[in-house]
Amino acid sequence: MVPDPMSWVRDDLRTATGYSVLEAPDGTIKLDAMENPFGLPDPVRQELAKAVSTISLNRYPDPRATDLRLEASRLIGVVPEKLFFGNGSDEILLNLFLATKGTIVTPEPTFSMYRIIAGTVQRSFKGFPLNPDYSFDPEILPSVLSREPPGILVLASPNNPTGVACPLKTVFRAAKIAREYGFVTLLDEAYYPFHGETALSEAGGEDVLVLRTFSKMGLAGLRLGFLVAPEPLVQLLDVLRLPYNMDSLTQRAAVLLMRDVYPLLEKQVEEICLLRDQLFSGMQSIPGVSPVPSRANFILFRVKGVPPPVLFRRLLEKGVLVRDVSGHHPLLEGTLRVTVGTGEENGSFLKALREGVGG
Ligand code: PMP
Repeated sequence: MVPDPMSWVRDDLRTATGYSVLEAPDGTIKLDAMENPFGLPDPVRQELAKAVSTISLNRYPDPRATDLRLEASRLIGVVPEKLFFGNGSDEILLNLFLATKGTIVTPEPTFSMYRIIAGTVQRSFKGFPLNPDYSFDPEILPSVLSREPPGILVLASPNNPTGVACPLKTVFRAAKIAREYGFVTLLDEAYYPFHGETALSEAGGEDVLVLRTFSKMGLAGLRLGFLVAPEPLVQLLDVLRLPYNMDSLTQRAAVLLMRDVYPLLEKQVEEICLLRDQLFSGMQSIPGVSPVPSRANFILFRVKGVPPPVLFRRLLEKGVLVRDVSGHHPLLEGTLRVTVGTGEENGSFLKALREGVGG
């Protein structure tokens, strides 16, 4: 018998699937990935180019990301020592899951990377269902947590792909129950800019670990996320963080953007929220389409009379890329998710949707 040439590969990875990123032809209206559709104006781009032009790329980056840390501390209002940065918030999840033990527990449907990263680092993972209306009842937690070795309870609010936010009172109630079972609670506030409610004001990253990203408000290409956590945890995470995970370009650009461009991004976020509400009304007026009220920059919607994969293809043929999430969880049956685009993009999507569900 010929020996297996890949016998040294982890068995569980052979059948695993990673995060799927959709690809579409140039010119497609991209409403699949919760990106800010506006981009940065020319003067800001020029300022950015100037700022990064003086970086010594022959030198390693500042391993402590000092300037970035101070600027973020000022912006968010937490002490610099409580901040942990990552190459996107995905990397922070990876580091956090590597540094801890026990089970990762989360109500589903939610962001698929929690499950994927847990699998990557061979952590036990337990998903349990949200209510059918995608709300979360913390009183279900004792029955779930009592069966698992204590690890991390992960909550996303607003949640992806539902767009539903969890009231802070509920988050803190969940965190209290979790603590009784030895679990720590991680609140993923990736869509905080569109919702405006944060556990940071009350918990200060002590009772609840708070995860944020700059991706959704307009800087997805920069890859910058941060965690607000008690100092001892930040120090522990620093042990396994790769020394130069934040490159010099990102550090320099992020400082400039936080210092000078943040108000512009906030204005864009306001505009996106208005566009979201218009898009929601537009979708509601289409027979057979039921959008779920959203606190984020995307809208989950259920369709009747046409299978989501068919609608996905019809929309793509009309030049609009959305995400078919119908197969991700039983509670998502019949649903797709669309990101809020510019007014014009949303108009093209609504037209394509009306035609797409019409047959
Ligand atoms: N958390 C949630 C809930 C998300 O939806 C996403 C992106 N889809 C992320 C985290 C990851 O964001 P990033 O890695 O770009 O910071």
